[in-house]
Amino acid sequence: MAVAIGTGVTLGLVGLLAPQQRREQSRNESSLLSKPPVMDWLDDAAKGPAEQNALTPAPPSSRKWDSPLLKACPASDPALQQRLMAMPLQLRTIQADPSNYGERTMVDAHGQRIDPTPAVIVLHETVYSLGSAVNTFTTPHPNDNDQASYHTLVGQQGEIVQVVDPSKRAYGAGHSAFDGRWVFTSKHFSGSINNFALHVSLETPADGMGPGAGHSGYSKAQYDALSRVLADWLVRYHIEPRAITTHRHVDQGGARSDPRSFDWRELQKRLTAMGLVC
Ligand SMILES: [Zn+2]
Repeated sequence: MAVAIGTGVTLGLVGLLAPQQRREQSRNESSLLSKPPVMDWLDDAAKGPAEQNALTPAPPSSRKWDSPLLKACPASDPALQQRLMAMPLQLRTIQADPSNYGERTMVDAHGQRIDPTPAVIVLHETVYSLGSAVNTFTTPHPNDNDQASYHTLVGQQGEIVQVVDPSKRAYGAGHSAFDGRWVFTSKHFSGSINNFALHVSLETPADGMGPGAGHSGYSKAQYDALSRVLADWLVRYHIEPRAITTHRHVDQGGARSDPRSFDWRELQKRLTAMGLVC
C-alpha cells in the first residue's frame, strides 16, 4: 500500500462512517463553533408553536428490531457462569480528543425536551487494529468529517478500553434510528441515535481488516469482555437486553454492515449465564 500505515488506518476507520453520519457530526461541531443551537431554539420560540410544529421532522421509518438474543434460551453453563461472574470489569481508560465526542443534550434542535438517558446499545467493529482505533480517537480532528468515537473498544485479547465516558455523546452512528426514535441535535443535519446510545466496538481480526463480507470472527476473550461491558451498561441504565443492536440495523443510510461475522449465540450464552436474558 502506498500510504503510510498510520494515515491509511485512520482514513480507513473514518471510512466506516456514512456521509450522513459525517454530516451529523459536522453539524454538532460547526454549530458549536458558529451559531450555538440555543440560538436556533430562541428563533423557534419567537416564531410561536404552530410554526415550531411545522418544522419538527417526522419520525424515522425504521424496521422494528427483532433481537436474536431473545429467540431461544440456551441451557446455562455453570463453568461459564462461574468464570463470568468472577470477572471484574477492568477498564483501561484513554482520553479521547474533545473534538471527537460531545455532551448529551436534554433539549433538541426544535426546542423539545428529550431524555438523554442511554436506551440502546450499538455493536460495531473497528475494521482496523485496536491501536489504530485508539490513535484515531485521541487525535484532534478539526475537520468535522473526521470526527468519530465509540464509548468502549474491546480488543482481540479481551482488553477493554474506555474511550468516551458513557455520560457523554460518542459519535458512533450519525444518520440513524432505533425503533422509530432519533434525535435532531441541530436543524442542519439528519436525526441520530447518538444522544441516547452507547457504542461498543470489537477489534476486527487480521483477516477482516478491509472491506469484505465477513471474516473469521471474534475471540472468546472478546465475547467474554463484551458481555462484561454489556452487563454493566444493562444494569446501570436499566436497558432491556432486546435493545442491544448493531450499527447495520440502526444505520439509515444503508451503508453500514458492522459488526460483520458477529455470533449472537456466543453473546446469548454469556448473557444467559449472567442471568440477564431468559
Ligand atoms: Zn459501526
